[in-house]
Amino acid sequence: MFSGAVLSTKFSKCKGVDAIRFNCQNEHNFYLAANVIDEVDIDVIKKRYKQSRITLERIHDGSEEAPEGNAGEPLVNLDVDNSCWCPHCVDYFYNCLEVHNKQVFKLVGGLFTKYVLYRCNEKGHMFHVKSIRKHKYQSQFKIQDYTCPDCTKDEREEERR
Ligand SMILES: [Zn+2]
Ligand SMILES: [Zn+2]
Repeated sequence: MFSGAVLSTKFSKCKGVDAIRFNCQNEHNFYLAANVIDEVDIDVIKKRYKQSRITLERIHDGSEEAPEGNAGEPLVNLDVDNSCWCPHCVDYFYNCLEVHNKQVFKLVGGLFTKYVLYRCNEKGHMFHVKSIRKHKYQSQFKIQDYTCPDCTKDEREEERR
């Protein structure tokens, strides 16, 4: 479910420079100038991306613990040059990183994947949200108001007892 990456490419002219059109896994279209693509090390990026995806899957299914991570960074940090990726996905991800409720969650990771993964501080539950966002996600989806669905469920069961 954390699969993704660039799906299709097509040469075209964009604002007078040679650019290549990409579709990202979240259905955004974006252009990258040919010189940007020349400058980045695609192999390194692919490798890091693949590693982080595997790590996210393991953390999600519980076979691996999330690392501690640094303040202000996702726990699984992809650590690549963002200029060579879909700017919409990058925007969305960094918005999540900034506005999510840090009292409740830590952001585990999910840049360039279809989901962003969070872990609740209280009990370590995993919580993921689709990152397909074509419109104004900030106002629409209220990332800052997310609560942990598993904790909410636990609380309800407590009450019933
Ligand atoms: Zn995208
Ligand atoms: Zn929880």
